[in-house]
Amino acid sequence: MGFNDNLTKTKDGKFTLKSKTEKAKKGVCVECGQDSTTQELLFRYNSEDYILVREYIEDHLTSYSNHKTMEPIWCKECAALIEYKVTLNASN
Ligand SMILES: [Zn+2]
Repeated sequence: MGFNDNLTKTKDGKFTLKSKTEKAKKGVCVECGQDSTTQELLFRYNSEDYILVREYIEDHLTSYSNHKTMEPIWCKECAALIEYKVTLNASN
């Protein structure tokens, strides 16, 4: 705060230009195309979201006995959940 330049600090302590982060902050992620300002997204770094994801997976695997594994796919850019990858039992 108080610096009259175009630098901004990221969460992990790196500096970048404010103009480069505005796009991401305004919503639509360049990587996954999801918009956290208009969509209900789950984030990997949010422990509450992470618990919800685990509960969802547990429920799903309990309901669908032929679904062997389920893997949450997170966006590399914004860390939001994109989809779940399901592996079916080979015997089916
Ligand atoms: Zn993303």
